[in-house]
Amino acid sequence: QKRVAVLTSGGDAPGMNACIRAVVLACEQNGHECIGYKHGYNGLLNQEYTEFTADIIHNLIQQGGTVLHSARCLEFKTQEAAQRAASNLDALNIDTLIVIGGDGSFRGAMHLSNHWDGQVIGLPGTIDNDIAGTDATIGYYTAIETAVSSIDKVRDTADAFERLFLVEVMGRHAGFLALSAALASAADYVVLPELFNGEEETLNDIHAQLTVRRELRGNISYIIVLAENVWPGGINDLSQRLNALTNSEVRPVILGHVQRGGSPVSQDRILATQLGAHAVSLVGKPVNAVMVGEVNGKPCEVPLPMTWESTKPLDESAVQTMQALINSRYA
Ligand code: ADP
Repeated sequence: QKRVAVLTSGGDAPGMNACIRAVVLACEQNGHECIGYKHGYNGLLNQEYTEFTADIIHNLIQQGGTVLHSARCLEFKTQEAAQRAASNLDALNIDTLIVIGGDGSFRGAMHLSNHWDGQVIGLPGTIDNDIAGTDATIGYYTAIETAVSSIDKVRDTADAFERLFLVEVMGRHAGFLALSAALASAADYVVLPELFNGEEETLNDIHAQLTVRRELRGNISYIIVLAENVWPGGINDLSQRLNALTNSEVRPVILGHVQRGGSPVSQDRILATQLGAHAVSLVGKPVNAVMVGEVNGKPCEVPLPMTWESTKPLDESAVQTMQALINSRYA
C-alpha cells in the first residue's frame, strides 16, 4: 500500500477531471491512499491539498476544467522550490506523484525528480497534442470538436455573405489542432507552423487558389484556418493583407479559450481513464520520471525528457489529404 498524490498543472484541458477520477478509483482498487494537490505546483509548495475519497469521483467524468484547479508557478523552476516540494511530499509520506499537464509541467516534474527520491509519473493533458511519445493527449479530441462546431457556424455566416473568414485555432507551436479542425470542417485553406514557407508564399498561394475557385464559381465563401503563433504579425495583419490582395472583406475570428473548455468527448474520457489506470498500475514499480502515453491504442511509458526533446510530426497522410483538398477546384 502506497500514498499517491496527483495534481493538474499548466494549460487546463477537458478530460483532466476524468483522469483524476481514474487515478482515484485505481488507487482505491489497489489499496493505495490518494491526495490531490491544488493549483498545480503552487499547492505542492504551499502544502495545499485535499484527501480524496472515492465519493468525490461521482459525476466527475463529464466535467470540463479540473476540480484540483490548475496554475502556472514560475517559482517552481528554482532549486529551492524543488527542495521544498520534496520535503513537503516527504512530510506527507507520499511515495508517488502523478502530474497531469503539458510539456512545461513535465519539465517541472523532471526538475522535481532531480531533487526528490520518490516516484514521479506524468500524464499528458493538453489540447495541443504537442507531446512526443503519445499519439494523442487528453483534451485534444474535445478541442477538435469545439473548433469544428465553431467553424461550422462561421461557415453559415460566411456563406450568407460570400465572405472570407480567417479563423485562428489554438495549438501553441504545433498544428495538430488546426489541421484536424480544418479537415473536419472542410476549411478551404490552413496555415500550419510545420508547413509554413513564409508570408509572401502563403499570401500568393491563397490568392492563386481563391482566384481559381472564383473563376469557376463566382463569389464564394472561403474559410482559412490559421494556427496560432504562425503568422509573424498576427491574425489582424494577415487579415488586412488578404483584404488588400483579394479585394474582399476578410473577417478575423479568434476562437480563443472556448477551445479549452467543455465536457470532454468520449475519446478523451476513454484516453484519460486508460492512462490514469495505467499510471496507478506502475505505483511502487521500478519506473520513475516517465510519462504514460498511448501508442497504437496501447499504454506505454516514455522517459519524461523525451516528451519535449523529440519532435512529434503531423500525420503525413492527413497533411497530404488536406493539401489535395486545398488544391481542388471545388470545396
Ligand atoms: P504546460 O504544462 O501546459 O506546458 P506551462 O508551460 O505553463 O504549461 O508549465 C506549467 C508549469 O510547469 C510552470 O508554471 C512551472 O511551474 C512548471 N515548469 C515549466 N517549465 C519548467 C522548468 N523548466 N523547470 C521547472 N518547472 C517548470
